[in-house]
Amino acid sequence: MLPLVFQKAAEVISIIEKHQFEAYFVGGCVRDYIIDRPIHDVDIATSATPAEIQEIFPKVIPVGLEHGTVIVRHQQESFEVTTYRTDGAYTDHRRPDKVHFVRNIEEDLRRRDFTMNAIAMNAKGEILDSFEGRKDISQNRIQTVGKAADRFEEDALRIIRALRFSSQLGFSIEDETKEAMGKYKAFIDKLAVERLTVELEKLFAGVFYPKAVESIFELELYHYLPIFKDVPLLLKQIEPVSSLAPVFAFVELKSPCITAADCVKAYKCSNQLKQQANTLAEAYHRYKQHGIDAWFVYQLPKEQWNFFVYLVQLADNEIINIQELRIVQEQLPVLSKKELCLNGHDLMKWFPERPKGKWIKELLNEIEYQIVTSKLANEKSKVKDWIQWNQPDQD
Ligand code: ATP
Ligand code: MG
Repeated sequence: MLPLVFQKAAEVISIIEKHQFEAYFVGGCVRDYIIDRPIHDVDIATSATPAEIQEIFPKVIPVGLEHGTVIVRHQQESFEVTTYRTDGAYTDHRRPDKVHFVRNIEEDLRRRDFTMNAIAMNAKGEILDSFEGRKDISQNRIQTVGKAADRFEEDALRIIRALRFSSQLGFSIEDETKEAMGKYKAFIDKLAVERLTVELEKLFAGVFYPKAVESIFELELYHYLPIFKDVPLLLKQIEPVSSLAPVFAFVELKSPCITAADCVKAYKCSNQLKQQANTLAEAYHRYKQHGIDAWFVYQLPKEQWNFFVYLVQLADNEIINIQELRIVQEQLPVLSKKELCLNGHDLMKWFPERPKGKWIKELLNEIEYQIVTSKLANEKSKVKDWIQWNQPDQD
């Protein structure tokens, strides 16, 4: 019997089959099932076109129609269903120009990057392995489907993908595949950087990351990685981590001319990531000056604690026990601004004669600091008293 993650999706496949179309599990889920790794998302490929899938299922969300991908809702769950396709030409080397739908699974498998990613499995768990992906998996080997040089010339993202799979799985890259990676490495420059970022994040997260770094240096691929081309040796110091934020904070700490913001810009990451990377770098500096105190813990969001510990270990080989942070946090009088006994409106009421201005924010910040560091009680009357002795500056 198939593992639980496949079972609901197998119903989707069976329904498609009842309508005289084919459907298979494909890609990462089949590979990870064979390797016996945790499966995170289940992808389905089908001979039906998106329009035909929309006729079969009542709830279909067209998320990527240009690639033939829709989301099928089935029993409160979502499944990604993609029509068999071949990728068109990659004339600008950034993305395929146009995809073509096909009715034959083998053609769909042939356009996939590596043999281990080109295995299909039906709802009964029977495997279709036209490119000997299982053999490569059993030998821990990453090998392109078809001639490696052609596949990397077509899409240089596959060069980075080979590295990230090596980092995630600990597999070695087959000789011809590796040679072709070296040959076409300059094409990495032409990729849409957002595609690179997705793979790089996974590369840094792989438990076999040092193995990937070995290949990066062997092939001198770092010349084609934004930012790291200027500080390649940092790649050797990084340890596996599940977010780019601590990686970029680390780059900022270790290189005088590069900021985390530069990294975020180079890789076109989100503002949220930028904020996280900045918070981590600032936390690091404050920690170095003041150690772990109340203000430090108050300012560092809990979700970032692990990354902060990681950063200090990476930067200084210093081990911080998360328990230390927890103890300080438990003693904090307030955990966020919302818990303060006053807000800007209170201040305006207390100083009706003053026009609105930045003094409100500044005073509030100062009061927040006084309360968090237990220099002032979180009570309105106490705060009012304190203000008498610490009159705010006029704007
Ligand atoms: P993960 O488990 O990390 O999601 P995955 O193998 O599912 O790994 P995806 O990026 O989700 O990787 O891609 C799904 C499948 O699509 C791959 O297994 C592969 O068959 C195919 N694929 C993805 N990107 C490419 C590419 N650039 N060239 C060829 N095939 C690709
Ligand atoms: Mg996937």
